[in-house]
Amino acid sequence: MSEVQTHGVQCPKCGGRIPVSKLIFRESFRCVRCQTPLYVSGAYSRVLVLLSALTSLAIFWLLGVRDLRLFLFCLPLAFLILTLVVRVAPFVIRPRLYAGRPSSITKLDLS
Ligand SMILES: [Zn+2]
Repeated sequence: MSEVQTHGVQCPKCGGRIPVSKLIFRESFRCVRCQTPLYVSGAYSRVLVLLSALTSLAIFWLLGVRDLRLFLFCLPLAFLILTLVVRVAPFVIRPRLYAGRPSSITKLDLS
């Protein structure tokens, strides 16, 4: 039973463990135990977006795309990478959760 305690992210309000999934990036995300609205830190989200954009650029660069097409195809691929990253990243680096509502943070509201 204690094995479960080491997994997931911690609720800042009740200390309960929340299983990690891409759902933590949702705007309507709540703690499963105390129902407190929670959100992932803006810095964490921004790093994921930046990481996806850079990975996308690197892929095209390595493929030998060094002209305008680089910028044309970079964004769609970056978005594709981002959808994968939000599923994987929380397992690699645990995001920090905050109680309440974010003020002015770019949301990753992916469905
Ligand atoms: Zn809670």
